[in-house]
Amino acid sequence: MSETTQIEWTDSTFNPWIGCTKVSPACDNCYAEVSTPARSLRVSWGAKEDRHRTSTANWKLPHRWNAQHEAFFAAHGRRRRVFCASLADVFDNAVRAQWRFDLLRLIVDTPNLDWLLLTKRIGNAAEMLEQAMRALTVGREGWRDNYLPNVWIGATICNQEEADRDIPKLLAVPARVRFLSMEPLLEPVDLRMWMRAAWRGPLPIGWVIVGGESGAGARPMHPDWARSLRDQCAGAGVPFLFKQYGEWAPGSGDFGAGRFVTAAVASDGRVAPGGYDPTAYPRGAASADGWAMVHRAGKKAAGRLLDGVQHDGFPGAQHDLT
Ligand code: SF4
Repeated sequence: MSETTQIEWTDSTFNPWIGCTKVSPACDNCYAEVSTPARSLRVSWGAKEDRHRTSTANWKLPHRWNAQHEAFFAAHGRRRRVFCASLADVFDNAVRAQWRFDLLRLIVDTPNLDWLLLTKRIGNAAEMLEQAMRALTVGREGWRDNYLPNVWIGATICNQEEADRDIPKLLAVPARVRFLSMEPLLEPVDLRMWMRAAWRGPLPIGWVIVGGESGAGARPMHPDWARSLRDQCAGAGVPFLFKQYGEWAPGSGDFGAGRFVTAAVASDGRVAPGGYDPTAYPRGAASADGWAMVHRAGKKAAGRLLDGVQHDGFPGAQHDLT
């Protein structure tokens, strides 16, 4: 949909269709549903609602990016990354199978692009990809052993329950890179049992992206949740990208001037909006019982430094195609 994007971890976005159904606590404040394209095209969210396939002209964009590969590579030293379906979900059951086949054909036909398929329905991915690959006459036998080399598969994980349920499914999907997008991060998550496997061979989780929620109804993220994931990744040698704090920044903000709405977030995800005695908690510090003060700063002001450091990890050379 867009040749360039504000999303920190991709170069371009492409939406083959628009529309979806909420399936996770991470979807509660779905930005896609209220996005300008969804509203102007009057796309309604829900399992029984029609998805809107984007225009033929839009579907031509990836071919153009593919043709620009040499110039892009010369400028960036790597291939262009395309985040597919920021306003939908590639593995949505309500989408016609033919559309997904068309998308896979497009991916096959644009080998100079790295396609990042991020889903909240990772349980559908292996079967739907296999169906689509079988339907394509691309001269590939046994695609499980010969997966599409330009596809990265990601699962959105917002809490421990989703991690326990979905990471094993992600690891069963053939892909050059398997990654987690942990945004919005809604509670502390322990990934170590899947990262330990990293020490036995090729990294099963190749990349972890972490971020807090943005937007009007955003839920705060305790800074310790992001710190813990940063440290888990460092311990296992998994690239870590801290995308954003989101709407809420650590600390009590300029409480005295009354310009900030302040809340407290507990280590287990409970939120105490306002009314929390800020004098009991030093600015920016967590209390002994795990509560931390946060304040509504807005995404831009909250920034993306975690303890003063910008984390921009990406999958390394072992995943590179030339
Ligand atoms: S999967 Fe994504 S697009 Fe679909 S409802 Fe959830 S947040 Fe919105």
